[in-house]
Amino acid sequence: MSTSLSHLFDANVAWVDRKTRKDPGFFQRMAEQQSPRYVWIGCSDSRVTANDVLGLDPGEIFVHRNIANIVHTSDLNILSVLEYAVDHLQVEHIIVCGHYGCGGVARALSGERGAMLDHWLQPLTMLYHKHRATFDAFSDLRVRINRMCEVNIEMQVRRIAAMPIIEKAWARGQSLNLHGWIYAIDDGLLRDLGPHLSSIEQRDALPTIDNCVITPADPVSAVRRQAIAAFSQLDLGDACCGGDGDGLRCVAE
Ligand SMILES: [Zn+2]
Repeated sequence: MSTSLSHLFDANVAWVDRKTRKDPGFFQRMAEQQSPRYVWIGCSDSRVTANDVLGLDPGEIFVHRNIANIVHTSDLNILSVLEYAVDHLQVEHIIVCGHYGCGGVARALSGERGAMLDHWLQPLTMLYHKHRATFDAFSDLRVRINRMCEVNIEMQVRRIAAMPIIEKAWARGQSLNLHGWIYAIDDGLLRDLGPHLSSIEQRDALPTIDNCVITPADPVSAVRRQAIAAFSQLDLGDACCGGDGDGLRCVAE
């Protein structure tokens, strides 16, 4: 087996060539500054890459990713990312975007314990144990996992909203909007799950997370309907798996 990664360097050169031909000043502008309007907090899953999913160029979104897009309030990594993004880059939107079929979420529901990863997933495991009867009422494991994927996003948006970094920004009148989205790998579309929070008052008016477990968010938003309508007009032949129904379809439709 070859240990060379020369094909990646070749791909890099090809990418630079395409970019430069299309926009000769692109890299010069990139070198001068970054001014993204968005922060993306997503899963490390290799299939869910922020710039690709959103069709954005380098420089347009500030990204933090970890397994299962979890916000630990003692995680120096995410705290540093958010402080820099909010205080210095002055981003306007923070998006927590999970995805259906998340392996990290599946692990949290699996009963497997003992790996470092299980410490990381502890908040999900705890929530699952507290509401086990509700989650286990879904006999289809994929549906159960997908339902937890949705609740996980709700929980992580709330955790960000409780951070002093965010509270201070709101208190000084900075425009800062939090969003909860979910991505479906099998069709490439984003769903706007909420919550949407732009102030301490909105955060404090939320029902409890326990309430959200019992009452699912509706991912069939107007945005999603538009996206699906547009998607259905694409001629994809057999490329779309569409198949026998994923958790989203089972849960939301
Ligand atoms: Zn994942």
